Amino acid sequence: MRSVAILGATGSIGVQALDVVAAQPGLRVRALAAHGNHARLVASAAEHGVRSIALVDPAAAAAARRSFSGTVLEGAEGVVELVRGCGADVVLNAIVGSAGLTASLAALESGGDLALANKESLVAGGRLVTDAARAAGGRLLPVDSEHAALAQCLAGVAPDEVESLVLTASGGPFWDWSHERIAAATPAQALAHPTWSMGAKITVDSATLMNKGLEVIEAHHLFGVDYPAIEVVVHRQSVVHGMVRLRDGAVLMHAGLPDMRVPISWALSHPRRPATNAARLDLARPWSLTFEPPALDRFPCLDLARRAGVSGGVAPCALNAANEVAVGSFLSGAIGFGEIPGVVERVLDAVGSEPVESIAHVLAVDARARAIAAETAGVAA
Ligand code: NAD
Ligand code: MG
Repeated sequence: MRSVAILGATGSIGVQALDVVAAQPGLRVRALAAHGNHARLVASAAEHGVRSIALVDPAAAAAARRSFSGTVLEGAEGVVELVRGCGADVVLNAIVGSAGLTASLAALESGGDLALANKESLVAGGRLVTDAARAAGGRLLPVDSEHAALAQCLAGVAPDEVESLVLTASGGPFWDWSHERIAAATPAQALAHPTWSMGAKITVDSATLMNKGLEVIEAHHLFGVDYPAIEVVVHRQSVVHGMVRLRDGAVLMHAGLPDMRVPISWALSHPRRPATNAARLDLARPWSLTFEPPALDRFPCLDLARRAGVSGGVAPCALNAANEVAVGSFLSGAIGFGEIPGVVERVLDAVGSEPVESIAHVLAVDARARAIAAETAGVAA
């Protein structure tokens, strides 16, 4: 039996993770956390027999205490306290944004495994996160579908046999749109993803291709591969999730219909591989899989992320924070879709790439980058 703590339990990944745990007798939920949806969190806790929950929003925590007899922790510190105290074998971090960084570090420092959906932790924290995993001995298991695919392709492959990693991108809803049409895209258009159903922030990141840029940085830290050896290819069908080119010319591919429950299940049960009822790839009907290079001129966020990754230090943290503010500003109507890359670029230029000293340093850079981004976007910080 493996016990699981799910952070971000009311979101897209969190709810699918609860489905995975309910379907697998070898897993049970030990603790749950979310930002503010207390009704949903309390209902999930009751359904899974969970006695400890945390809500970031104090008003939501107070409301939860009125209907839930177990422990209710509150605030961002409450989430960290939940992680440290719950004794789960694996913590699934499905919080959105760099707000998940302190919880990722707490999970690793507690010595358990970290199943990481929250890619922003790794982008902002970088070596702080991989060093914490190494120091405490817990495993860092990617839930992001491309990275889970790559980890599976890389099993049993020696590092010097790898030529490059290939991340596939769906291309998002604007893939075949003109530059002018993309610049004027509305939030409703950006939120209509062609192949995946996800939370709002990552859906907008998929439309700008910033998501793939964050994933390039994520892959660099997870697999210790240099940036020139991390390729991105647009693959509209989202069936091949990742590829590894080997030095003998072979290419290993990982495929399956797009369903996040598959990588969630892989990460929660690793190294076992329980059955799931995910839809099967039907090879009896004709299939076309297409691969094409990303259009960097129409989707500049991919190159901005690569630039931040290569610069290193605090640059990826600044990139991520600026992007979070820019995406929020776009969704609230304060800036247009076409203004997102400009906000991110301005912040990258202003913050630079000094070496990361500590978690406090990363959090300070995150805050400074957010302030510059908010000023650039004309919104309140
Ligand atoms: P979502 O918006 O649907 O859910 C986010 C969850 O985080 C909610 O439970 C919310 O209550 C919680 N949350 C929000 N702010 C918080 C804070 N400050 N502190 C603690 N909890 C907070 O997002 P999602 O689509 O489930 O994505 C979650 C993470 O997983 C993101 O990092 C995303 O990039 C990654 N991811 C998602 C998918 C997907 O299919 N949805 C795929 C790959 C990776
Ligand atoms: Mg992904």
